Amino acid sequence: MTTSRRVLIAANWKMHKTISEATRFASEVRSALAVPAPCDLAVFPSFFAVRPLVEALVGTAVAVGAQDLHWEDGGAFTGEVSAAMLRDAGATVVLVGHSERRHVMGESNDVVARKLAAALRSGLAPILCVGETLAEREAGRQRAVVETQLECAFGAADATGAAKTVIAYEPVWAIGTGRTATADDAEEMHRAIRAWFGGRFGAGAAAALRIQYGGSVKPDNAASLLAREEIDGLLVGGASLDAGSFLAIARAAGARG
Ligand code: PEP
Repeated sequence: MTTSRRVLIAANWKMHKTISEATRFASEVRSALAVPAPCDLAVFPSFFAVRPLVEALVGTAVAVGAQDLHWEDGGAFTGEVSAAMLRDAGATVVLVGHSERRHVMGESNDVVARKLAAALRSGLAPILCVGETLAEREAGRQRAVVETQLECAFGAADATGAAKTVIAYEPVWAIGTGRTATADDAEEMHRAIRAWFGGRFGAGAAAALRIQYGGSVKPDNAASLLAREEIDGLLVGGASLDAGSFLAIARAAGARG
């Protein structure tokens, strides 16, 4: 393994876990981290659980973030949450453009770009999610689709903002379906993403960029994905809901060497 990029394992809890369930998870993780994980860790609970989790995980190396944010800094946007509110709650990271936001909530590339800009403006470190649908992959358009998502999202971003961003490649057809991309398919797309990033922000930025894979990651497939030099971490949904399973995935990062 030649890369110096540190693996990032992140838990996206979607619309799961009450505050008490989230803090129970935190105490299990806190005990287990007496043996430190061989990677960076982040947890993305519901908005309500951000603050309690920040408090429950204080002093650990686990970052707490939100699954979404609004693109404006404040104003008449009923039901929305701003980056400043997330910072105030103790969040340091945020998911932007998750596939469920794009495909279930109808977020366009333009909305995703505005959210990425809001996160960077506020000092939240974004994980920008990109990925193609099954129909787009079957039509051989996966690379073009992802490059368009990247071009739009980073449209107004500068090199400083780009350097703070992690990209998660999450093929829509692999999320929550039990169908994982092969390590070869994931690696091919990660290479394409890194090449695009290098073209836009330079070779140094591309070499430092962390690219996670997401889509039906489980303890039993994590090590084979992380063994690939291009795969710098995992964004995990279903299998991150159980602390034991999340930690088993984190421990798989140790095999990366
Ligand atoms: C996700 O929510 O980002 C995800 C990858 O979900 P799952 O691991 O359940 O496929």
